[in-house]
Amino acid sequence: MGIQILPARLANQIAAGEVVERPASVVKELVENSLDAGATRIDVDIEKGGAKLIRIRDNGCGIDKNELTLALSRHATSKVSTLDDLEAIVSLGFRGEALASISSVSRLLLTSRTAEQEEAWQAMAEGRDMAVQLQPASHPQGTTVEVADLFFNTPARRRFLRTEKTEFGHIDEVLRRIALSRFDVSITLRHNGKPVRQYRAGTLPSQHDKRLAAVCGQAFVSPSLKFDSEHHGLRLWGWLAPASAARNQPDVQYTYVNGRMMRDKLFNHAVRQAYGERLPAEGHAAFVLYLELDAHEVDVNVHPAKHEVRFHQARLVHDFIYQVLQQTLEQEESAPAGSAEQ
Ligand code: ADP
Ligand code: MG
Repeated sequence: MGIQILPARLANQIAAGEVVERPASVVKELVENSLDAGATRIDVDIEKGGAKLIRIRDNGCGIDKNELTLALSRHATSKVSTLDDLEAIVSLGFRGEALASISSVSRLLLTSRTAEQEEAWQAMAEGRDMAVQLQPASHPQGTTVEVADLFFNTPARRRFLRTEKTEFGHIDEVLRRIALSRFDVSITLRHNGKPVRQYRAGTLPSQHDKRLAAVCGQAFVSPSLKFDSEHHGLRLWGWLAPASAARNQPDVQYTYVNGRMMRDKLFNHAVRQAYGERLPAEGHAAFVLYLELDAHEVDVNVHPAKHEVRFHQARLVHDFIYQVLQQTLEQEESAPAGSAEQ
């Protein structure tokens, strides 16, 4: 076989292998697109754990008719255009791959209307070259993406799907994480036509606590220590379970860097070190942490699914996190709850 250029669909399916692992990864990519589009309301409808249908509807800026075809093409993004942009990413997306990848392994319909347009348009990509068909549609300002029959044309992936309940559980978890990253956005989740979650938007502290309780449970919220510290351009805020409550904590370990959820060894290490000897046997750390720093100080282009980041000054960041958490835990011990007024 001589060297040849892969047909578009096949190339996109190869890329999909890295970002579209299961229905929950589709939900993550699409909801992140809605957030990047400035949506304040996102409705997620799932059928059969997402294997049959994933529908995400938002009230964001929409996509112009002339750009719908591009939106479905690989390496097409409105978020990055120069190397400078790449070195200081402020949006959740930047690779221009999600829509093309997802539509190469499903039956995807993209419907959208911008504020300027009188009419909405719907796009779908067909055949091995993924030629895009457009037709008029009815839709308020914003975008709906419908992903039906995920992996219908990639049987190896389809076989890896777990039960409806398991897949839906992963979707629920993705939305919990996103719900904690944007208190100002309403998010609803339905499964097989039934409402499952409703996260209402609100920026007051009491509304924060309400959403936190909805996601993490009251057992985490009630004893938790709230903190907010800033030092040399680094800010860390969030909630931390005191060591005294560590025994009956639900599994709450959420970390965000500039609004992007992630799992990071550096965070985990700093947290463990801060709790140190305080953690009782059988107990575990529980926390929701938000780190904010200059976008130039962190590289998010490390992994296609963007679960990881790299800090330019890792040691500094680690020590800052450690110090803030350590002090928070120490203060609680020297002023146990209820003793302050005596
Ligand atoms: P990326 O998010 O990395 O730019 P995507 O493939 O996820 O790549 O999306 C491609 C482009 O389509 C985005 O850059 C954006 O311009 C547009 N887009 C996708 N989803 C939406 C949406 N929900 N609302 C508005 N624009 C969108
Ligand atoms: Mg995207």
